[in-house]
Amino acid sequence: MQDVKSIENMTLTDTHCHLDFDKFDSDRQAVLDRALQAGVGRILIPGLNLTSSLSAIKLAHSQPILFAAVGVHPTEASGFEPSSLNDLRNLARHPKVKAIGEIGLDYYWATSPRDLQQKVLTDQLSLAAELQLPVVIHFREKGDEPTGDCAVDLIQILEKWVSGLRRTKSSLAKRPGVLHSFSGNRETAQAAVKLGFFVGVAGPITYKNGQPRQELVAALPLDRILIETDSPFQTPHPHRGKRNEPAYVRLIADKIAFVRFCTIEQVISTTGENARRLFDWE
Ligand SMILES: [Zn+2]
Repeated sequence: MQDVKSIENMTLTDTHCHLDFDKFDSDRQAVLDRALQAGVGRILIPGLNLTSSLSAIKLAHSQPILFAAVGVHPTEASGFEPSSLNDLRNLARHPKVKAIGEIGLDYYWATSPRDLQQKVLTDQLSLAAELQLPVVIHFREKGDEPTGDCAVDLIQILEKWVSGLRRTKSSLAKRPGVLHSFSGNRETAQAAVKLGFFVGVAGPITYKNGQPRQELVAALPLDRILIETDSPFQTPHPHRGKRNEPAYVRLIADKIAFVRFCTIEQVISTTGENARRLFDWE
């Protein structure tokens, strides 16, 4: 039997939630209230471009439990201008900005050429190193395959970046970032973990066809895992098909506990501590 009281007292962390999206415009405060009621104590809102990065900061500024990341998403790479890096640098000055993201490679939508995506990614990685901020990484394979060029290119770029951090004895080498809503295979996860990255686990682990992800999560060390909703997307079972929201992060913690044969308290406390170490919040 699980002690319900002890679960209720634990703080859940949603490390990736697009709370600034207009999907939440009509009831954002109610969504936040439900999150608080569910025990969520920390939410990171990532940016997708300069405008949404600013929205993320504004929201984070308004509520103690909210934090922001600023960055240009790979599907927005064609909008990345020479001035964008400096704009991001200025945005990142806000004390509630805890990461650069989400940044990465997206070979699924392929809205811009791969070499441009890679350039926009490496530019932002350099900025993260300069500002000593960890990165929130998005990557998606062509055709949603479990592995392919996207994973290969990404790991190569991250290896180079992390080896630079290590060479310059940057403290960021100990907390370089997270591969959010991880959809890759075990080899990619292991390569990322070897580089010091965390692996973000989202709603698909709760799906009927979630077995490969469940096995991957069961095999990773718990101190390398972060939990996230990726709201409003990737709604976990049994709410699949509806809009996702941060209160549902508990369902993901619960599933991780189930596949790892441990308690939900262990999952909540360890992944919460992981997030605290990565994003350096209280
Ligand atoms: Zn996202």
